Amino acid sequence: MSAKKETLSVIIPACNEAGNIGPMARALRQIMERERIDAAVYFVDDGSTDGTWEQILAAAGEWEMVRGIRFSRNFGKEAAIFAGLEMAAGDCCGVMDCDMQHPPETLVEMYRLWENGYEVIEGVKEDRGRESLIYKGMTALFYKLMSAAVRQDMSRASDFKLLDRKAVDALVSLPERDTFFRALSGWVGYKTASVGFKVQERAEGESKWTTFGLIKYAVNNILSFTTKPLYLVAGMGVLFLILALVQGIESIVTYATHRAVEGFTTVILIELIIGSVVMLSLGIIGGYVAKIYEEVKGRHRYIVSTTVGIPARRERRDDPV
Ligand code: UDP
Ligand code: MG
Repeated sequence: MSAKKETLSVIIPACNEAGNIGPMARALRQIMERERIDAAVYFVDDGSTDGTWEQILAAAGEWEMVRGIRFSRNFGKEAAIFAGLEMAAGDCCGVMDCDMQHPPETLVEMYRLWENGYEVIEGVKEDRGRESLIYKGMTALFYKLMSAAVRQDMSRASDFKLLDRKAVDALVSLPERDTFFRALSGWVGYKTASVGFKVQERAEGESKWTTFGLIKYAVNNILSFTTKPLYLVAGMGVLFLILALVQGIESIVTYATHRAVEGFTTVILIELIIGSVVMLSLGIIGGYVAKIYEEVKGRHRYIVSTTVGIPARRERRDDPV
């Protein structure tokens, strides 16, 4: 550990990015030295199986401002971001991807805004890069729900951000473990600015997201950020009560006027509709119950196996519960 000043901590979650660590560290070093920014880079190895950690060690050997945190297994990008935020020592923290999709020049732009007094600087996607049609449709739906939940436009939000120490401290003090960094940075408030950037092509390897993974991620974040679906369930209950009353009156009238018997179609339809609505509602409620269960267990967000370049006092001792 060197005594060099660290004003900006750059946090980079990395899962199987062996080919990207070296170029990323070199690119950042070059640009930070050129811009005279005292920066340290925190690579968080999120359970990689491809020699990412060895690359981080090599990068730390080349440049004393490289730090590394290695998880005991894959805990996900959110956990990696929060581990970095918890261990960073800088007066501000930048978070960016390991695959060069977030241009380092934009990080410098964000840093300049921070120097001018902004406390939360959001990277906003000017275009979304290349995405398939189905992916576009699904993300549009997800962002509509999320935007309503956090009352700000999320459609172009990204995890590429720069936060002042105050915002970082506020974030890491949150007790919840299932976090959604992208929206939480806006939730903490503070003086906010945004910087547009063009999503670059991934440098090496491929995106780790599967369709199922993305759906899970979307549902999880909606459950974390809004309880609106629960009210939707109550709303459906009221709607069906009204329909039941109408249908009830109708069948009594039919019975009284001796015109009953026929109408099995109606019965079948009602059974089907009510059945599916009840199941859907149970599912939504179950989602929240599961969420409560996960949070109540209070397990650590991640477990660190080793670190490099980080003084022991800052390292969180995360023993499994
Ligand atoms: N990542 C991670 N843990 C994971 C998945 C991804 O730390 O379980 C990192 C990954 O190494 C990269 C960033 O998160 O730095 C974004 O991942 P990716 O490029 O696969 O996602 P996309 O850009 O397609 O959203
Ligand atoms: Mg990427």
